[in-house]
Order: sequence, then C-alpha cells, then structure tokens
Amino acid sequence: MATSPDMHQVVHQLMPKTINTLKQLISIPSIATEGYSNQKVLEAAHLTAELLQTVGFQNVRQLIPANGGRPAIYGEIPGPPDMPTVLLYAHYDVQPPGPTEEWISPPFEPTERDGRLYGRGAADDKSGLVAHFATIQAFDGKPPVGMKIVVEGDEEFDSSLPSYIQLHPNLFKADVVIIADHGSIRVGEPTLTTSLRGSAVLTVEVRTLKDKQHNGVFGGPVPDAFIALCHIIANLHDKEGNVHIPGLEPSTWQGADIPEEIFRHAATLLPTVDLIGNERPLSAQLWAGYSLNVIGIDMPAIEGASNSLIDVARARINVRVPPDQDAERALALLKQHFTTLVPWHAALTITDSHTCDGFIAKTDGPGYQAGHQALKEAYHAEPQVIGDGASIPLTNVLSQQFPKAEILIWGAEDLAASIHGPNESVDVRELERIVLTQVLFLQKLAQKNA
Ligand SMILES: [Zn+2]
Repeated sequence: MATSPDMHQVVHQLMPKTINTLKQLISIPSIATEGYSNQKVLEAAHLTAELLQTVGFQNVRQLIPANGGRPAIYGEIPGPPDMPTVLLYAHYDVQPPGPTEEWISPPFEPTERDGRLYGRGAADDKSGLVAHFATIQAFDGKPPVGMKIVVEGDEEFDSSLPSYIQLHPNLFKADVVIIADHGSIRVGEPTLTTSLRGSAVLTVEVRTLKDKQHNGVFGGPVPDAFIALCHIIANLHDKEGNVHIPGLEPSTWQGADIPEEIFRHAATLLPTVDLIGNERPLSAQLWAGYSLNVIGIDMPAIEGASNSLIDVARARINVRVPPDQDAERALALLKQHFTTLVPWHAALTITDSHTCDGFIAKTDGPGYQAGHQALKEAYHAEPQVIGDGASIPLTNVLSQQFPKAEILIWGAEDLAASIHGPNESVDVRELERIVLTQVLFLQKLAQKNA
C-alpha cells in the first residue's frame, strides 16, 4: 500500500479531473422539487451512477423511495477480510438558484474566480460527491477497507432517504459513516462537526372573532387577532433578543469559537443591525442554545387589504433545540408557554407540530481518532470541533439503526461558500484537502484494524 506522502501527490494529480467532474455536475440543475425539471434530476442521478461505476463501485443501482421521492444512488466495494466498512454519503440534488440577477456568473455555468469555483451545488453538495469519487480513485478503486456509498437525490426538499434506511437497514450497515456535506469556518482550518441541534415546529392560531368585521364600526374595544398573535410572538424574546421560555435552559458549549466578523458576513447581516442574545457567546448560542423564529405567517395580504378587524391569524414557529436536549419536551414547554402569553382571552389553537432530535457524535472510537489524525495531517493544523445549528435527520436514523457506528461530518463547505444563497462556491484547495483527509482516513482506519 502507498504511504501517506505519496498520497499527497496522488490526490494533487487527481484534482484537475475532479474539478472537471464537479463542473459537469454543476451544469445539471438537479433541483428536486415541484416547478423544476425532474428530467434534470434524473440526468444527475444517471451521471452519478456512471461516475460511481467508473471509479470502481460495484452493484451500482438506483434506490427508489416508496413515497415518490427521487432516486438515491448506491454502490459498494467489498473490503479485505476483517476490515471495517465505511459508508460515504453526499447528495446530488441542489437548492433552486434564487434570483439569478444576484449571481455574478450564471448559477449553472460553473466559473472559476480567485481560487473558488462558483455555481449552484459547487459546495452543497456536489463537492462532497466528487470528493468521494476522488477518494476511491486515489486507491485505484481498491480502498484498504470495505466501502459503501449512498448519494441522495432529494436532500434539499423532503429527504426520503431516512425512511428508506428504516425499511432496508442492512444495505447501510457500516462501522463508520462519512457525511461530506459540511465544512470549516474558514478554509484551511481542519474542522469536525460533532453536534447538531434538534428542532421543533408548530403552527399557532389566534382567533378573536367569528368573522371579519369593519374596523371603523367595531375597532377600539374589539381585539384584532393579528395584534393578539403579535403580543405572543413579541414576548418570546426579551429586549436583548434572548429566548425566554420557562423550563428551557441552553446547554454549555466547549468547542471552537466563531469569529463575529466572519459570522456577520456569512449571515449577510446589515452593517447597522445588532446581533441578538447578549447572555452567551456566539458559538454557544448557535450550537448549544435555543433559537426561535417565525418562519411563516397567514394574514390578509397588503394587496386587497380592506378596512377590517382581522378575525384569525396564524404563525408557523420553529425552535432550534440544543443537541443534548429532548425536542419533544421543548415542544411541550413551548405549547404550555403560549397559553400563558395569549392576551384578552383570545382563542388559541396549536396544530401541525413535530420534532427532530439533535445529534451528538461519538468521539471515543477508532473512526473518530483516525478522522482527527487524517484532518491534522491533511491540513497541517490541529483540528477544531464545531457544531451545527441545523439538523440532519439522516444522522438520527443511522445512529438509531446502528448504535455502534461512528459518524464523521466534514466537507468543503466553508462559511463563505454561500450554500443556498446566490454565488455559491467552493474553494478548490479546500476540496483537495478534504479528498486528502478522506484518503488518509481510510488508510489510518485500515492500519488500526491490521
Ligand atoms: Zn447539503
């Protein structure tokens, strides 16, 4: 087997080809939701399957979800006897481009500028996909451990893979799972994401009248449902923007800190606007705290607005839950809190609630050790540990099905990658470092089992 220094060269030489493959994938607008071409999604599925076969995966096939979701692509490479199995994950579908006039170069015409490759999916998550191809190519299709790969086709909307895994768990059985759909705060800083927040979502409805009434005739003594709803919403944060829900306390954070300037820029926060929540540091708020947002509202639109008292108003509310806390409990306490906040004895109804628990990675096994060492060697720097404020339902399903499996989350999606926004990009050298990390990881994992 080749030694590590050789692998630096091998990976470096694979990069031009890897970037070309990435450009080919970016050119296909594989947006897996209504209103976009399903043909393009299938084209990306096809190309993914072809590329998996080319790099040496066997039994490559489409997995068709029962609920009408888009196909995932699956493949495997049996390992030498007694070697562990690693499951690689990425997704080939992408977010819609959003307003195209905000893109400097067209979203589906991959363009290189200043060391970054621009285009929808350049980072999220076609970078993960090509990183997996290159990793296998570095071993000429014969990696030192057993491999499985699943490339999802509808991660961005209504992910169907978690339910598929529940129905066919054996296909996904592995000792280590690599989810290459993440990244560092700054390029060149090796990073492992070891926790994800959970979430709870619900719709709250406030009603004050049976029907809309004239606001000139009745306005004054008669409460408006929208104003009542606003009272509830306005009391969920204090003046400084800290979330205050009785019974819900944030968890503690011990990983890396996130620099404020980088964070403000990535969030596209306007220069004059404050960050909110003054009780805890930024990283603790983001990765171990509660956050609460209104993500939708049902109200008469301005166009067609009439002189009426609003009879009913609804808000969809999303709460992010610290990784180690129970999302169901958070939801119950939030519902309870609403009942204490509703003003003027307005009628309150809560509907359509659901939760997703957070995730905490195991950090004491051979997979995590090998991953940590591989990152350190590929980046020539000490890896840092971060969290993610968002959930990945896949991690929960995999850890329920395979409690012993270790899950590693990394990738080339640094904070400046603008995933989901205009001008999404990947840093080409960061992508090379991630490929090298994965190659070194497989070698180290094999050595631990030799
Ligand atoms: Zn993604």
